[in-house]
Amino acid sequence: MKTKRSGSSFNSLNSKRKLESIFLFTTGKCNAKCAMCFYANDMEKKAQDLSFEDIKKLSETAGSFKRLWLSGGEPTLREDLPEIIEMFYRNNHITDINFPSNGIKTDLLIGWLKRLRQSCPDSNISISISLDGFGETHDVQRGVPSFYRAAETLKKIDDNFRDDGHVIKNIATVITKYNVQEIIDFVTWVYGRFNVSTHTIEAARGLTREEGVKVLTEKSLREIQDTIAPFYLLYARRIGEGMNAIGRGLTKFFYVGLMRAMYNIRAANLEKPSCWNMDCTAGETTLVIDYDGRFRSCELREPIGNVKDYGCDVQKILHGEAMKKEIEAIGYGYKANCWCTHGCWIMSSITFNPGKMLSMLIKSNRETKRLVRPLRVNETVLRELEDKYRIDRDKLAEIGLIPPPAAPEEARAGVA
Ligand code: SF4
Ligand code: SF4
Repeated sequence: MKTKRSGSSFNSLNSKRKLESIFLFTTGKCNAKCAMCFYANDMEKKAQDLSFEDIKKLSETAGSFKRLWLSGGEPTLREDLPEIIEMFYRNNHITDINFPSNGIKTDLLIGWLKRLRQSCPDSNISISISLDGFGETHDVQRGVPSFYRAAETLKKIDDNFRDDGHVIKNIATVITKYNVQEIIDFVTWVYGRFNVSTHTIEAARGLTREEGVKVLTEKSLREIQDTIAPFYLLYARRIGEGMNAIGRGLTKFFYVGLMRAMYNIRAANLEKPSCWNMDCTAGETTLVIDYDGRFRSCELREPIGNVKDYGCDVQKILHGEAMKKEIEAIGYGYKANCWCTHGCWIMSSITFNPGKMLSMLIKSNRETKRLVRPLRVNETVLRELEDKYRIDRDKLAEIGLIPPPAAPEEARAGVA
């Protein structure tokens, strides 16, 4: 049965600032060793994860808010995560769950998604699987062999939730020295082989596990962004399938505009802080809670306390002196001049600056229109890429991403 996505991120356009998103680092454990991980140092501390009871108190005091962004560590390593999400759904009426995963624990993840669709029927779940490059590139960047596993996870998510509008499928790629040379080919291949709603590319950020992985300059990032811009028109078309003409038009306008606006801000901030031309609402609309209870206004600023010192009471945290001072110090980004490349905060802040947003969207759509060029994404191109990057097509067939190779007799029949 087809189900439609309830509401949309675009519906959150709102100039009244209040808590909108909690970013919960569910665990300090991870089963990967990514070269560009900005959280490796924090995980190294091997502190205790917040207990279920601590998180329960946080949920009970947070009031209603829209989005729960999971983070980590690898969220699937926290065994009680489904209960935690269900608790936020019941207590806080969350409408969007952002669920990133490295996609290694395939069956567990599929089982959890099925469960959450039953227990949280009105929430949208954006599941974002990391895929950083072709085969070995992905494995080297992730520090564990996981390319085919992550691909299998994506295929299974699509098989299970293809007609479910509440499950939004995303692939996330972080650009580093390992994949920068193949990123355009990879974006092409991803679009052709996976039925996902979007493919986001992030520039490595923060203090990375491995030094020297950040190789992008503003110029090279803008070149990449310009080259892949036409793909976002294709994704917009994919998302809009089944909608009427007005729905398709609005989807294209918002989706293409937001992606381009975010990418423009990211490029401008890659080498130096550069004003977003809108307020950053970190701390006012967002709260980050680390796995061990430290909290911050955004992922890139320093922790300003520990939730345990506030009895895990979110209202006390939000209205406490430490957060007030932090918001004052940030000054909507202008005072701290800490403008960053972080897409989650850029997107969140855009929705709280509706006036600025409209002009950004119009400009971004115009820019994207100028970048349109014919794209070749067909079976021949995809096979050429798989040969070029030594992808094991038998494994792709096993996963179900491509048809199985023809049996010898069928192949002969085909030749005849
Ligand atoms: S980037 Fe994510 S998956 Fe990779 S090591 Fe860090 S927490 Fe784990
Ligand atoms: S600009 Fe970036 S680093 Fe500064 S407060 Fe906003 S999200 Fe945080």
